Amino acid sequence: IKQEYPDCVIFYRLGDFYEMFFDDAKEVSELLELTLTGRDCGLKERAPMCGVPYHAADAYIAKLVSFGKKVAICEQLTVPGAQPGLVKRGVIRIVSSGTMTEDKGFDSKCNNYILSACLNGSQYGIAWADITTGDFYCQQTNYEGMADVIARINPSEIIAQKDAYAVICDLPEQVLQQVRKKSEYVDNKYSFLDCTVVLKKQFGVATLGAFIPDDKPEAIRAAGALVSYINDSQMRKVDILSKITYFSDEKHLILDSTALKNLEVMRSLRDGNAYGSLLWAIDNTLTAGGGRKLKELVSFPLRDEKDINYRLDGVADLKNNSMVRESLRESMRFVKDLERLCGRLSNKILTPKDCVQIRSTLAVVPAIKFQLAGLSSKIINDIYANLGDYDKLYDILERVFVDDAPVTPREGKFVKNGFDEELDRYRNLHDNGSAKIREMEERERETTGIKTLRIKYNKVFGYYIEVTNSYLSQVPYNYMRKQTLVGAERFYTEELKKLEVDILSSVENSVRIENEIYEKVLTILFDSLNSMLKTAKCLSMLDCLLSFAHVAKKNNYVRPELLAAGKPLKIVEGRHPVVEAGGKITFIPNDTYLNNDDSRMMIITGPNMAGKSTYMRQVALITLMAHVGSFVPAKEAQIPLTDKIFTRVGASDNLMFNQSTFMVEMTEVASIVRNATENSMLILDEVGRGTSTFDGLSIAWAVVEYLTNTVKAKTLFATHYHELSELEGNVEGVKNYKIELKEINGEIVFLRKIVRGSANKSFGIEVASLSGIPKDITTRAKDILKTLENNDVTVKAKKSDENQPERQYSYVEKYLSTLDLNNVTPLQAFEILAYLKSKAQ
Ligand code: ATP
Repeated sequence: IKQEYPDCVIFYRLGDFYEMFFDDAKEVSELLELTLTGRDCGLKERAPMCGVPYHAADAYIAKLVSFGKKVAICEQLTVPGAQPGLVKRGVIRIVSSGTMTEDKGFDSKCNNYILSACLNGSQYGIAWADITTGDFYCQQTNYEGMADVIARINPSEIIAQKDAYAVICDLPEQVLQQVRKKSEYVDNKYSFLDCTVVLKKQFGVATLGAFIPDDKPEAIRAAGALVSYINDSQMRKVDILSKITYFSDEKHLILDSTALKNLEVMRSLRDGNAYGSLLWAIDNTLTAGGGRKLKELVSFPLRDEKDINYRLDGVADLKNNSMVRESLRESMRFVKDLERLCGRLSNKILTPKDCVQIRSTLAVVPAIKFQLAGLSSKIINDIYANLGDYDKLYDILERVFVDDAPVTPREGKFVKNGFDEELDRYRNLHDNGSAKIREMEERERETTGIKTLRIKYNKVFGYYIEVTNSYLSQVPYNYMRKQTLVGAERFYTEELKKLEVDILSSVENSVRIENEIYEKVLTILFDSLNSMLKTAKCLSMLDCLLSFAHVAKKNNYVRPELLAAGKPLKIVEGRHPVVEAGGKITFIPNDTYLNNDDSRMMIITGPNMAGKSTYMRQVALITLMAHVGSFVPAKEAQIPLTDKIFTRVGASDNLMFNQSTFMVEMTEVASIVRNATENSMLILDEVGRGTSTFDGLSIAWAVVEYLTNTVKAKTLFATHYHELSELEGNVEGVKNYKIELKEINGEIVFLRKIVRGSANKSFGIEVASLSGIPKDITTRAKDILKTLENNDVTVKAKKSDENQPERQYSYVEKYLSTLDLNNVTPLQAFEILAYLKSKAQ
């Protein structure tokens, strides 16, 4: 078996355990901290062995998979003892991080995606699926598109054809995030034709046209390869993947991995947790399915006015009807994870306990429909129409299952009394049998006078009468010896034997009948699989709309007005959704106006800590939220349809990938310049900071010029280079803004208000002194600054020791000496001029 699955750890079922042998045992015992033992198997040395109890295997499998391992589950295929010789065994399933169905393996509020990729020329085919929920998408795209999707869906496993594999392995960490397993598949194993056949069979269709456009062969290859891989791993057709959606870039606002990270959409930059992210601030979903859906909505915002308004209408409807909203939120608390329950049904691991959860969910559907009936928006009407009618199914589940049904059907005890006559009869027999045993025990004690006489039961010997050694002389003649212990003897009688047969056969028969009933229920449920999945998706979407409405009401958000691409962006009294939700400060709102004409570039100056980054991110987040279909933190918002949001924020090292702070910054700028259009939104914070002042200023200057003149995107550009304010009036589209503050008795007070104009001073030293830097340093810094500002470029180095020779710094002269004066750029000319001007003064 190991030879057939060399890349897997074999979980080999031996009775109540899964055992691992040889190298598997050595490795797994270390990873899972299990005791390494051994087993004689006819070899010279004992085979190394370790094992886990089968009923706790899920957690161990999930842990192994989280280490990037693949596990092959090898089961006993025949009943032990039924036939002579060894029990037949075979691998029934292969588990890897993306094909896992064990509940313990993933967060209930996250999808668990597996992604496949192939490459042909410059075109990537990608497909991604979650076999626990049935979500399945594909796309044909370029390198950037492929990386963006991976960053947004955060798959746990990637399989890729050779060429694509090489590229994927080189993707930065912020794209790959939590990919636990990457593997390469053999190229010719999944040809285009094979893939087409596989997909048609999977979806039960004659052509794929309804799912994937004809001119996207790479998408078909990726999807086909993925279906084959998944079905191979489960060793059957995974029915829950019953359709696929082609993902089209044109319909969505694109966020690349850098923007996702810098805007802290899913995770905060500080510690990578959800706390402090946009999702944290706006996620008030009450169900696991709703939580997953909200993540999807936020990572794939829309770009079609109609689609967005379709959602916004629903949010408005629910926001305006507080009574309905609150009672729907109340009902939502009873909704279980129907989508994943459907996944378990499809993956043949549904338990009686799961059936009770399905029942509780179906039980609230009528109440939810009743509430929705009073609302008027189209999305709510569509949800109403697709929620389905489960009276019959609910009735069956209600009649069959007890409330506290067990997690396994194996031992029965989940069917209600009164559902099946025969079952009731056997249960009576069993109950009577137990009572009769107690009666018999009482009677035997009296007739024999043995006070300590007990009738007990164990699995090996069945029922027996136990008498301690001191009473052995009182044992009657009709007692037959069964077993001798150190301090007691065990007996049976004809009567006890007969009773035992009755009791045991009644248990056996009850379990058999309960399992027959269970099989029937599963078939009925399976017939409703697709309809229940649809219901599940509707409930998740409703949960998201309720969350948007609830947050809008609670935080005083307004409905954004979506405008055609290229129209002006106007935000009145906008706020940062996350800083505001943090609740630690009174947030000062600010306005924004950007158009594609004379105000397409805001150059924002202001001291450190003034609030430049907060302001720029708030504009980007409001734009993003509007495209998601959420209300926004502002008094009024007009948002033009935007194709992409790009960010370049702060300094971050990527040393592992051989990139310095400055290199990361420049790579991000390069990507923005290459990919932005006039319908994009750009957030640039401190471009050119990672190098010397003059290099940095020159780069920042040239970038601003290029963005306004050539790209023409709406841009917010924060900088400490006041020199850039010279651009207003000289370069079309540039407007200067600053964040106000007051200086009172040498101390600064942040006003957090953005106004036209540019700051003429950095206040870096003042802000530094707020941070606790020793006074010696800040006082000295002030001295140096004064000298530099007076353009007395020769700063005398402070002497720590009188004997040390005096050193001189002359920055500007040194810079001038490097210039080729026959070939001076406008920027250099400007700097020289500024220098001469100040000298003259
Ligand atoms: P630096 O140039 O040092 O990066 P900055 O100008 O970008 O600073 P921010 O980081 O945006 O400053 O803001 C500093 C702090 O000021 C934030 O952490 C936030 O708590 C607070 N702040 C920013 N804007 C506002 C506002 N509008 N209302 C209230 N507090 C704000």
